[in-house]
Amino acid sequence: MANDCRFNTSLLHGTGSKGFSQREILPPVSQVTAFQYESMEDLEDVFAGRKMGFAYTRIGNPTIAAFEQKICALEDGAAAICTGSGMSAVSAALLTVCQSGDEIIAGSGLYGGTIRLLRNFEKLGIKTVFASRLDADHVRKLINERTRVVFGELIGNPSLSVLDVPGVSAVAHEHGIPLFVDSTTATPYLAKPLNLGADVVIHSTSKYINGNGNAIGGMIIDGARFPWNFEKHGALSEFSQFGRLAFTVRARAEISSNLGGCISPFNAFLSYVGIDTLGLRMERICENAAALASRLDEEKDVSVNYLTLPHHPDHAYVSSELNGYGGGIMTVRVGSKERAFKVINSLKYVKIASNLGDVRTLVIHPASTLYRRNSRQEAEAAGVFDDTIRISVGIENKEDLIDDFLNAIEKSRDERRN
Ligand code: PLP
Repeated sequence: MANDCRFNTSLLHGTGSKGFSQREILPPVSQVTAFQYESMEDLEDVFAGRKMGFAYTRIGNPTIAAFEQKICALEDGAAAICTGSGMSAVSAALLTVCQSGDEIIAGSGLYGGTIRLLRNFEKLGIKTVFASRLDADHVRKLINERTRVVFGELIGNPSLSVLDVPGVSAVAHEHGIPLFVDSTTATPYLAKPLNLGADVVIHSTSKYINGNGNAIGGMIIDGARFPWNFEKHGALSEFSQFGRLAFTVRARAEISSNLGGCISPFNAFLSYVGIDTLGLRMERICENAAALASRLDEEKDVSVNYLTLPHHPDHAYVSSELNGYGGGIMTVRVGSKERAFKVINSLKYVKIASNLGDVRTLVIHPASTLYRRNSRQEAEAAGVFDDTIRISVGIENKEDLIDDFLNAIEKSRDERRN
């Protein structure tokens, strides 16, 4: 069935959800390392790509393939590659198009682990230039003859700065450069970056796609629309025969499988099941987050960073790029690290955990955890200060969430008064 229906219907009945070999309604878990063949000739044909088939789970597996097809359909992509984590998806995607001497332009409001990865790349001769904002004007000024890719998070975690996908992709394309978008925090429910001009989309499926906090995973989705110039993108030159699919072929056959960060079939299965409720979860999460942000914004001694608040600098993107939603993450500044810890420790329901996109509301003090190994400048560029609390809003009843946070904030005031 084509994906000509609405979001939730296409999730459950679209092209990524067709029946499986024995008519199972969900993909069977092929929890195996390798696949057996009748003859050596058969296995040779599979390795040579002359016959469809699976050989070894690090390279391909039917359960993982079902998960890939489902997300590929959801993002309106041409091909998808599943990886063992969001970090393995980011590293494989960037290493597929960059080699020593090349440059990346990246947003500065990125997840701390990704900033550190880009710093690690410097030791391999791949330099990153950070843009204070990922919009057309800022990117235009940073492009030079060594730039090979522009990379950013659609909604920065936790900066909440929004990437102007149509504007940045237009400028990048003028210069023969693709735009790669980490859409983990936006999810396809808020935006489908390939349809806005991006060339490759990346997800940490550990977050909203899985949704239940039970499996780490990552995904790279290629729109296969970018016209690669193999002289400029020398990293892809051996794959020029594949034309617009050169990125996907190198990422799958070489970089992703050789880096070795594959997902387990069972984790692919858990995430395949998790995504069925993505639309329902995101609707509820965004409703809860908007209500919580508006109520906390009334408190004089806290400052709230959330996209649907009219004073947010990127508020206009909510309607132009994010389907009218603000997403599930917000940050709150409370004046000091000490008070941030008091607020967090006083929460009754909300869990203290280093994750986001769970059905449960989670909080963390990012400066002392996720950005511990980043410089102060990098952390502040990502919106992380000593007094910042990151909230990943879940699907609880919003009244309970609001009460929980208001009580915790009030308690932190009492302790300051005493
Ligand atoms: N990208 C974003 C936006 C993230 O928030 C994270 C993790 O928090 C990652 C990538 C890395 O994902 P994973 O933890 O699945 O490796």
